[in-house]
Amino acid sequence: MRRNMRRNYDVAVIGAGVFGAWTAYHLRNVGQRVIILDAYGPANSRASSGGESRIIRMGYGADALYTRWSLRSLTLWRAFFQQTGHPLFHKTGVLWIARDEDPHTLNTLTTLTEVGLPHEKLSRSELDARYPQIAFGPVAWGVFEPDSGVLMARRAGQAVVEEAIRAGADYQPAAVATPSGKRRLASVTTQSGDPVSAGDFVFACGPWLPRVSPHVLWNRIFPTRQSMFFFGGPPGDGCFAPPAMPAWIDFGEQMSGIPDLEIRGFKVAPDRHGPVLDPDQDDRAVTKEEIVGVREFLARRFPVLGNAPVIEARVCQYENTSNGDFLIDRLPDLDNVWLIGGGSGHGFKHGPALGAYVTARVTKGGAIEPRFGLATKETVQRRSVF
Ligand SMILES: Cc1cc2nc3c(=O)[nH]c(=O)nc-3n(C[C@H](O)[C@H](O)[C@H](O)COP(=O)(O)OP(=O)(O)OC[C@H]3O[C@@H](n4cnc5c(N)ncnc54)[C@H](O)[C@@H]3O)c2cc1C
Repeated sequence: MRRNMRRNYDVAVIGAGVFGAWTAYHLRNVGQRVIILDAYGPANSRASSGGESRIIRMGYGADALYTRWSLRSLTLWRAFFQQTGHPLFHKTGVLWIARDEDPHTLNTLTTLTEVGLPHEKLSRSELDARYPQIAFGPVAWGVFEPDSGVLMARRAGQAVVEEAIRAGADYQPAAVATPSGKRRLASVTTQSGDPVSAGDFVFACGPWLPRVSPHVLWNRIFPTRQSMFFFGGPPGDGCFAPPAMPAWIDFGEQMSGIPDLEIRGFKVAPDRHGPVLDPDQDDRAVTKEEIVGVREFLARRFPVLGNAPVIEARVCQYENTSNGDFLIDRLPDLDNVWLIGGGSGHGFKHGPALGAYVTARVTKGGAIEPRFGLATKETVQRRSVF
C-alpha cells in the first residue's frame, strides 16, 4: 500500500478506519491531493472498524438525522461495491423487537414512515410464525426493515482505502504526533520524525482521539471495551443464516446480532457499555464472565443455541461521545485541523455520508451541525443516540 510520497498535500487524513477512509476517498474524488497515514494500518485489529461485520439499519428512534444519513450511506456503499466489484453488503433485512410501549421502537416506526422507508410492523403472532427459531418471551411486536442488512466491515473499510489509493491518494504507515501551535498547522510529524505538510489535517483516530488531542478530548471521548461472540449452530441447519434469519436488534436487552454470514457463525454483540479500554495496550481476550452473560441471553432468546459452542470471539471498543452524537469539528486554536470521530457503537454504516459531509466542510466551509460540534461534547456520559 505504500506509494511514492509527495511532500505537500491539500489534506492529510490521519486514521484509516471507516471515517478516515471515506473522507479520504471523497476528498480525492473532488480533486484534492490527499495522503492517508495510519499507525497500524487500515481497519487493523485494534481499530473499531476492524471487526468482521457491522449492521446497517435505518431505524434511529425519533432521530431523523441519522436515519437520513443511513439511507444516504446505504446508497453510497452499494454504489461503491457495484463499481468496484466487492460483494461486501448482505441484504439480510434488520428486525427490531420491542416490548409493549418501547418508545424507541415506536419512534423508529414513525420516522421510517415519515422518511418513506420500506418497513413492516409485525405483531407477536406474525413474529412467532415467521421466526420459529426465536423465543420472543416478553417481546410484543417488531419492525422489519427489508432493505437493510450487514456490511463486511474490515474488508469494506480496506476496499475504500485501496480505491482512494487507486484514485491517486498516497498512503503511509505511520503514527502521527499530537498537533500543536496556533492558528494554522503547517505539518505533522510521524514517529520517525518525518514532517508531512498539508493545507488541512483531518484526525479520524477513533478511540485514539483523546491521545491525539488530550487537552480537548481526554474526558470527552470514552473508549469502552465491547466483546462479541460467534456461536456455531447445529450442522446442516439454515435457521440462523439468511434468508431465515435477519440481523436483529433487541433494544430492551441491549443486544444485537448478525445471522451466520459467510459460514462464520451466529454473531451476538452486547451493546451495553463495558469498562474503559486502552486501544494500544489492552489484551483482546474475552472473559468467562462475558461468555456466561451472553450465553444466558442466548438460552432465553435463541434456545436451540443455548449450548452452542463459541467458535470465535473478539474484543473491540466503542469510542463514545457523551450522548452518542458524532464529533466533527475543528481543533480550537488550529483552524485547519479537524477532529472526526465519536462513532459511539453505531458509526460504521455512516462512513460514506460522514466522509461526504467532512469533505464539503473542509473544501467549501460552512457551519457545522451543532450536534457534531465540540461544544456539545460533555464530560459525563448520558447516552441518547442508539
Ligand atoms: C463491537 C462493535 C460493534 C459495532 N457495531 C456496529 C454496527 O452494527 N453498525 C455500525 O454502524 N457501527 C457499529 N460499530 C461502530 C463502528 O464500528 C465504529 O463507530 C467505527 O468503526 C469507527 O470508525 P473510526 O474510523 O472512527 O475509528 P477506527 O476504525 O478505530 O479508526 C481509527 C484509526 O486511526 C488510527 N490512528 C489512531 N491514532 C493514530 C495516530 N496518532 N497516527 C496515525 N494513525 C492513528 C488507528 O490505527 C485506526 O486505524 C460497532 C463497534 C463495535 C466495537
